[in-house]
Amino acid sequence: MKKIAILGSTGSIGTQTLEVARENGDIEITGLAAGSNIALLEKQIREFTPKLAAVWSEEKAQGLRMRVADTNTEIVSGMDGLLEVSTLGDTEILVTAVVGMIGIRPTIEAIKAGKDIALANKETLVTAGHIIMPLAGEKRVSILPVDSEHSAIFQSLQGNEPKAVHKILLTASGGPFRGKKEEELMEIRVEDALKHPNWSMGQKITIDSSTMVNKGLEVIEAKWLFGVDVDHVQVVVQPQSIIHSMVEYVDGAVMAQLGTPDMKLPIQYALYYPQRRYLPGERLDFLSLGKLDFEKPDMDTFYGLKLAYEAGRAGGSLPTVFNAANELAVRMFLNREIKFLEIVEIIEDCMKAHQNIENPSLQQILDVETATYDRIRSRR
Ligand code: NDP
Ligand code: MG
Repeated sequence: MKKIAILGSTGSIGTQTLEVARENGDIEITGLAAGSNIALLEKQIREFTPKLAAVWSEEKAQGLRMRVADTNTEIVSGMDGLLEVSTLGDTEILVTAVVGMIGIRPTIEAIKAGKDIALANKETLVTAGHIIMPLAGEKRVSILPVDSEHSAIFQSLQGNEPKAVHKILLTASGGPFRGKKEEELMEIRVEDALKHPNWSMGQKITIDSSTMVNKGLEVIEAKWLFGVDVDHVQVVVQPQSIIHSMVEYVDGAVMAQLGTPDMKLPIQYALYYPQRRYLPGERLDFLSLGKLDFEKPDMDTFYGLKLAYEAGRAGGSLPTVFNAANELAVRMFLNREIKFLEIVEIIEDCMKAHQNIENPSLQQILDVETATYDRIRSRR
């Protein structure tokens, strides 16, 4: 039995990870952590019988404690609870599927405790990649990508020498507003932005996909996962989301991973790497597909992507500003406090105002996050 714990078990990636565990039948769930959906967490506790489950608020944890008093699962709460689930004794792999840079401390502590990380939570790597990657090397733990593009890159790297990589071709669907210009984006409503053409995902990443900030985060994520600078990561729009990403080698060969859009493939690949397992589901049928399209990303309209390159190139604390500003701006957009185009305007404003800190410590990253939030709130 493979022993895994999941942070964000009630979310899109979390529930699909549990489906993979259910379908394979040889995974033991040691710990689960969720934000507030205790009804679903209770079901998961009853089905998967983890030793420990964490809920963010202590009040909700108390409610859950009563509901599952007849089970052997201990309920914990807050950041301490998240850290406990992340470092549980016999866990082999921690799946990080919480949303946002709240995942930084749990990820760091899990690595220190020797856990391999199946990483979905890209915001953590974007803001603290310079801490996490060397630490993972030192502790000899693997950071296994769950993000579909990065899994595709990882799969395309198998059997090849890292030094033979010429560049990474990161594919993008272009999101629901591909081809639109600024004038057409002014009155975009939350409901419009939540309609992704190819993937069903959590709300935050769906909005990120509609602004292309998600692709920007992924460029920086690729920088850390694969040790390349951002200018060796080229974004290619592939609207059908069939080519999940590619690697070009020095001899001109391009290796790609293709498939129907299904997150269970990268999740399962991360959990069983280097093994490939049967995965039920729709198969790619090239004859009915007919053709694949490619486009250049429109970085003038979707300039959040351009800002991500800037942040990734500069490094230091600028990626934290990029990410934190986006996290709060997306929350405000979802709460209908700001307009769609203001998301990226806010990111740009925060980046312009920031004094970059080279090689920031964990505390400095968290302070920059707070300062970024304060700036956004004080200006509205
Ligand atoms: P969801 O919003 O669907 O799920 C987020 C999960 O995190 C939920 O289980 C939520 O709990 C939990 N959570 C939120 N806040 C806390 C907290 N303070 N403490 C503990 N748990 C918390 O997000 P996704 O699954 O879509 O995304 C998760 C991560 O994976 C993101 O970083 C995203 O960018 C990345 N990713 C997602 C993909 C996808 O297909 N969805 C693809 C590639 C990457 P609750 O709901 O109970 O409040
Ligand atoms: Mg992705």
